[in-house]
Amino acid sequence: MPSARPILIVEDDMTVRETLLDQLGLDGEFAPEGAVSAADADRLLEREGTRFDAILLDIGLPDADGREYCAKLRESGIAVPIIMLTGQGAEQDVVRGLDSGANDYIPKPFRLNELLARLRAQMRVFDSSEHAVFTIGPYEFRPAMKQLIEVDRGRKIRLTEKEAAILKFLYRAGGAPVPRQTLLNEVWGYNAAVTTHTLETHVYRLRQKIEPDPADTRLLVTEPGGYRLAALGR
Ligand code: CA
Repeated sequence: MPSARPILIVEDDMTVRETLLDQLGLDGEFAPEGAVSAADADRLLEREGTRFDAILLDIGLPDADGREYCAKLRESGIAVPIIMLTGQGAEQDVVRGLDSGANDYIPKPFRLNELLARLRAQMRVFDSSEHAVFTIGPYEFRPAMKQLIEVDRGRKIRLTEKEAAILKFLYRAGGAPVPRQTLLNEVWGYNAAVTTHTLETHVYRLRQKIEPDPADTRLLVTEPGGYRLAALGR
């Protein structure tokens, strides 16, 4: 399983908020946190070492208009998917919500399955964008920047194009073993004249960068015929 994706739910209606927290937290796909107001959401967003992979945002908050708050989040550089929870059939809400930088809107009352489907769809799009961030062991992995950040120590590790591609593909496998030939094809292309020795060399160098003790690999683990990422999540 990939690590649970942290989701921020900003909703002052306790019933809706608690239902979303319960349901999204059920099977380990998401790690939701709730905020009751814009100020409460700000507090969570500014917390040290915090990251959210998506935000569900109620349009009517006690201390803010959700649309204006959404625009403010975008201005502050938050790029993750924001899905607005709007009133029933409120066309104006929808138009202004999307204008303010929201990715999608869902009228209340909503069906949970539909909300989950839309949330996953937005996150899939975001994950292949330049803004994507994934957690691998103690690191934040930014594929577009070809960078790992060791969160606790604030240390940055530069990766080569191939190293970033190897990590990205192993991450997408969700901790399942990936055969060497599959990695070769995905990272170098089907027609490339490279051997598994080339792959092994890149994996060796990658381990020197990311493993606390490269002689005792804990993150990028060798499996019969391939490799897998062992430490997904914090
Ligand atoms: Ca509300």
